[in-house]
Amino acid sequence: MKTVSEYFGSLVFDDRVMKANLSADVYRSLKKTIDEGKQLDLSVANAVATAMKDWAIEHGATHYTHWFQPLTGITAEKHDSFISPSPDGRVIMEFSGKELIKGEPDASSFPSGGLRATFEARGYTAWDPTSYAFIKGKTLCIPTAFCSYGGEALDKKTPLLRSMEALNRQAIRILRLFGNKDVKYVRTSVGPEQEYFLITKEMYEKRKDLIYTGRTLFGAKSPKGQEMDDHYFGVIKPRVAAYMEELNDELWKLGILAKTEHNEVAPAQHELAPIYTTTNIATDHNQLTMEIMRKVAAKHGLVCLLHEKPFAGVNGSGKHNNWSISTNTGANLLSPGETPYENAQFLLFLCAVIKAVDDYQDLLRISVATAGNDHRLGANEAPPAVISIFLGDELTAVLDAIVNDTPYSGAEKKQMKLGVDVLPKFTVDTTDRNRTSPFAFTGNKFEFRMLGSSNSIACANIMLNAAVAESLKVYADRLEKAADFETALHEMIKNTIKDHQRIIFNGNGYDDEWIKEATEKRGLLNYRTTPDCMPHLLDKKNVDMLTSHNVFSEAELKSRCEIMLENYCNTVKIEADTMIDMAKKEILPAVVEYTAEVANAAASKKAVVADVACGYETELISRLSVVTDQIAGRTAELEEALAKLKTISETQEQSEFIRDVVLSGMNSLRAAADEAETLTAEKYWPFPTYGDLLFSVK
Ligand code: ADP
Ligand code: MG
Repeated sequence: MKTVSEYFGSLVFDDRVMKANLSADVYRSLKKTIDEGKQLDLSVANAVATAMKDWAIEHGATHYTHWFQPLTGITAEKHDSFISPSPDGRVIMEFSGKELIKGEPDASSFPSGGLRATFEARGYTAWDPTSYAFIKGKTLCIPTAFCSYGGEALDKKTPLLRSMEALNRQAIRILRLFGNKDVKYVRTSVGPEQEYFLITKEMYEKRKDLIYTGRTLFGAKSPKGQEMDDHYFGVIKPRVAAYMEELNDELWKLGILAKTEHNEVAPAQHELAPIYTTTNIATDHNQLTMEIMRKVAAKHGLVCLLHEKPFAGVNGSGKHNNWSISTNTGANLLSPGETPYENAQFLLFLCAVIKAVDDYQDLLRISVATAGNDHRLGANEAPPAVISIFLGDELTAVLDAIVNDTPYSGAEKKQMKLGVDVLPKFTVDTTDRNRTSPFAFTGNKFEFRMLGSSNSIACANIMLNAAVAESLKVYADRLEKAADFETALHEMIKNTIKDHQRIIFNGNGYDDEWIKEATEKRGLLNYRTTPDCMPHLLDKKNVDMLTSHNVFSEAELKSRCEIMLENYCNTVKIEADTMIDMAKKEILPAVVEYTAEVANAAASKKAVVADVACGYETELISRLSVVTDQIAGRTAELEEALAKLKTISETQEQSEFIRDVVLSGMNSLRAAADEAETLTAEKYWPFPTYGDLLFSVK
């Protein structure tokens, strides 16, 4: 049997394979493109394409695809085979540099928010050489960007790469100011922790809501939920362990650094964390991970639920985006250094993040906004919709000392006034973890915890990179002009902390008192829902910032805003339609049937003993009748609301109607149906209950 280190990355056209299969010249040119973004010429592309094809065929591939991430949030692929006819009537296997670099999928059905209509009918895909090609099944997958002919991004990778470039540009300016001449590029890294639920396929197939929407739209609380905290980090059940083992194998073959796995808080909930890597690769890997999680589950008779809130009353699933900035020389810029001078640089980068998060709270909230995630944010399990930063006591004390010009009472008691060399040497405590903060500093990285489990991590990282690039730009503009660098630096750090102190909060983010303080005293934003936050994507300050760093054009922003709102509306509409269907065709018939059974039982009793009381039956029948009427009435109301929705043409207005009317209609229908479930005999209930679902995997 092969060991993990033997088969790790065996399906990836990675650096090792490139070195072995490309001539020294071609390898060097390609490396320059990967590391420094140098243009690739066609002869090099041809050589790479041939090597890639030969390697892929050796590994059983017959097809290739430009693998991309349209705005649907999932990945897309269109397979072409390598075959090409030869004069003797047979075929040869061909793949050219041109085919590697550019593809033209007929992509007219992907959402473009009006972009393609305005510019060009078709889009094209362009190879991203910074993310390795890999083999999935019999197909060589080439990670690509997806754009319109006018150059507008129609995907999530393009703006992500642009945001990384923006941050690189500004960070290099800062490093040069600190006298660093060696660093060639700066990149952000991400380690996304992925939460998910596993249930049996058998249970899943009996629930239309899970099939159509990925979450349960009905379901009374089961007698046991997560209250005992006995699942979190508990012993992994054999069936789940077998699943995780195969999942790891599949991920490792694709070079994905799956590292830790454990049970999460809710029953049937688990987590997988990879080792962090460069952001665009981490994004590709996370998309692949989600896909493979589902695929492997199917092989084990299981279904992997990636929805943010598959079950009411138990925790939903998120994705923690662990983010840091580092140089090509391996220095983590969010890590305090050995000397006060290094620490000054660290503090400046730290301040850049603090300023970015405060100035662009709205963009961060928008980057995680979906109908599914709205159920989590603001509930008692995920971070609130209000964004704040946790820094921990140590770092907060350092910052306080800087603002107040008072001695820092840490390891070295020094006055922190004027000039870099009096900034203290300190180390940051990495053990102090605040699990309730939406944006926590954890020693040498920030952990952004508001992402939904099914979200592509691209969106959050685009906004984060862009906002931090903007802070660094403001700093670099000022410092490059400063007469005395050290004084200017000290003042700037001090002013940033002063101006943005409101965003720092080390307390309990789940506390209602905090939400009050955050919004009323500190003036922080609290956008609870997608329709609340999404229009702010087009606020002038946001458009100005994102366009000035070339992360998005204004047209791209408008189209994205439209697409995200449409997605929100469609998601909820499908949910509402599913509820109506289940209520009419499954729930009402079941309750009516059970009521008739109870009535028959009472009648038979009375036939034997004429004046028997039948108190229980009578009481039950009247309660069942009340909820039956409620279910029927609320279903009709929901149908009416959906009919009204059809008459609204503006997407923003539609989304607000959904938020205010449709969702509350769904909640009240659910309440009645869930009560009916508690009154109805188990054998009459038409689909598996919460207890069945949450404890189905043995
Ligand atoms: P937790 O206690 O939150 O599970 P871990 O230390 O296990 O924290 O790390 C969680 C994730 O953070 C992992 O994916 C890990 O690879 C990632 N991570 C660790 N260091 C960094 C870093 N410098 N930059 C980005 N991600 C990192
Ligand atoms: Mg974490």
